[in-house]
Amino acid sequence: MIYHTDLFEKMRALGAVENASLSELTSFHVGGTARFLLRPRSYSDIRDAAALCTENAIPFVLLGRGTNVLASDDGFDGLVIRFDTPIHAPVYDGSRVVACCGTSLMQLSRDTVKRGLSGMERLAGIPGTVGGACAMNAGAYGGEIRQILKRIRILHGGTDEWVTVSDTDLGYRTSRFSFPDAIALEAEFQLAFDDGTASETMQICMEKRREKQPLELPSAGSTFKRPPGHFAGALIEQCGLKGYSIGGAQVSTKHAGFIVNTGSATEADISELIARVIEVVKEKTGVTLEPEIKRI
Ligand SMILES: Cc1cc2nc3c(=O)[nH]c(=O)nc-3n(C[C@H](O)[C@H](O)[C@H](O)COP(=O)(O)OP(=O)(O)OC[C@H]3O[C@@H](n4cnc5c(N)ncnc54)[C@H](O)[C@@H]3O)c2cc1C
Repeated sequence: MIYHTDLFEKMRALGAVENASLSELTSFHVGGTARFLLRPRSYSDIRDAAALCTENAIPFVLLGRGTNVLASDDGFDGLVIRFDTPIHAPVYDGSRVVACCGTSLMQLSRDTVKRGLSGMERLAGIPGTVGGACAMNAGAYGGEIRQILKRIRILHGGTDEWVTVSDTDLGYRTSRFSFPDAIALEAEFQLAFDDGTASETMQICMEKRREKQPLELPSAGSTFKRPPGHFAGALIEQCGLKGYSIGGAQVSTKHAGFIVNTGSATEADISELIARVIEVVKEKTGVTLEPEIKRI
């Protein structure tokens, strides 16, 4: 895309920088260059950037911490808005908390437990932002965003509004508060007062994670959604694919549900490996795996 001088100026005025490495912005650590990168410092930064891109037909994408994303080796010829820093601190009112969507979910979960609240303790090991977690309806060990998210402030089609969340708004690793349908700005969670078990539950969940997941290597977490009635990792292992590699991408030897970057992976390696895993699992078990990760 050709960017005229006045557009460059407008991007600069927003605070966007040029030529940012997507491999540094995503947890897989692969991908080419984003033409522009903006780290918003206010909600109006996000609103202005979205409006500028829409008015000028500039492609743009919203990221949290990029922990569920696979970025193309070809890069992204547009603006990446990385909403990964809180614009304000969480606001507590009894067992309710309102958090900026740029807040770290891990940090918020720990804080709530420390304050004697329960509801986020099982989510404490999930990397990424509150916004990314709402967009993905993130969950682990029986806890899920859907159980606690009550209201959400979203930007969509130029409108900025608080929405009361209903049961059908969030599904398995999906929600209607996900970019490009919406940009989540703030989220209100209804928690409960801790009966004295939240801290221990959090520790147990974190320990299970350290034991079972390849946290020492770059990944985007579970590569595939859980197919109904099965576990993706178990199916992949059963097909003899644990440890299977293409280039620098490998089906983790620790947890077959994770594809990891062993150091030199490209997006092409990871994409090829995903396709191969889907093909073999379908052939040998009849189950169709669906990727959980999003693409730029
Ligand atoms: C080691 C590891 C372990 C993981 N474990 C789990 C787990 O146990 N459970 C689980 O559910 N996930 C897990 N994940 C995946 C990932 O951490 C979650 O999906 C997380 O919620 C994504 O947050 P993020 O801020 O990184 O979002 P990103 O990866 O940046 O974005 C994910 C999607 O959400 C959209 N998005 C991000 N922010 C917003 C926003 N403010 N408004 C609208 N849309 C937005 C993006 O456009 C993109 O489509 C794991 C990942 C890793 C690397």
